[in-house]
Amino acid sequence: MRECFNCQTELPPETKHYDINDEVYCTDCVAAEPYTSYSYYIDGEYVGGSDDDNVRLVESFDDEYEVGEDI
Ligand SMILES: [Zn+2]
Repeated sequence: MRECFNCQTELPPETKHYDINDEVYCTDCVAAEPYTSYSYYIDGEYVGGSDDDNVRLVESFDDEYEVGEDI
């Protein structure tokens, strides 16, 4: 069973959740504050962004977790 690393709420398949440093958290535990990110271009060519690669919001339709799978 997969559960929130912070509150131990069960996170069944197809549940919107956060994936932070390879641990999963429910959306209730993570406070999401507005944040302005930047994309960087050199002569019009994208070269990177300011977003942190360690944090990912997994939408429910994007959640491919299967029951029985160990974390
Ligand atoms: Zn939680």
